[in-house]
Amino acid sequence: MIKHVLCFLVFLHAFHQTHAVQYTVINKALSTSGGVAFRDKIGADYAKQTLDSATQFIWRVLQLNNPGDRKNVQKVTLYVDDMDGVAYASNNEIHLSGRYVGNYQGDVKREITGVLYHEMVHIWQWNGNGGAPGGLIEGIADYVRLKANYAPSHWVKPGQGQKWDQGYDVTARFLDYCESLKSGFVAELNQKMRTAYSDQFFVDILGKSVDQLWNEYKAKYGNLP
Ligand SMILES: [Zn+2]
Repeated sequence: MIKHVLCFLVFLHAFHQTHAVQYTVINKALSTSGGVAFRDKIGADYAKQTLDSATQFIWRVLQLNNPGDRKNVQKVTLYVDDMDGVAYASNNEIHLSGRYVGNYQGDVKREITGVLYHEMVHIWQWNGNGGAPGGLIEGIADYVRLKANYAPSHWVKPGQGQKWDQGYDVTARFLDYCESLKSGFVAELNQKMRTAYSDQFFVDILGKSVDQLWNEYKAKYGNLP
């Protein structure tokens, strides 16, 4: 009996090792005040924990429950760079601006946590094989950030914005509305985007065109389309 339990534990350990994602943080901006601010106010250990928490959260929200549902990503590296802007993701790397960290006014740890959630979505989300609108890609990333309660206070309120694929907070709020019409909508949309993209996906999932959904969304908040 004991032997069987031990065998099972060894199996579990090996299973976990195989499927675990490895996180590395490299601070290339330590000679700048922003790089030092990252080290002192956020730190590599917290950043790695946050990347891991973000991954678990994204897998849950986007319902990437099995390895077969997900990209085959084994290692994600976060670089703190001396650069302009905020952050970007490419090739399983996240690049964070040390200048942004150093200049941020307010709760920088919470802000960077939200930024890392957003960038980590880019690591895991499908992009319609390159065919999805950039605004939708950014909207899904901010939708997950919203659901994780890391939306900054300066974001637009629900019902605001000019078009559904404007991106970022505007599209995130719209996707949240679509999600309210059918639980799991964003996960289903992302799954459909694995191999291609079409606006028809909104019709397939919700029975209405994306333009009609946008108009009804605007109307709900008293904004005429
Ligand atoms: Zn983004």
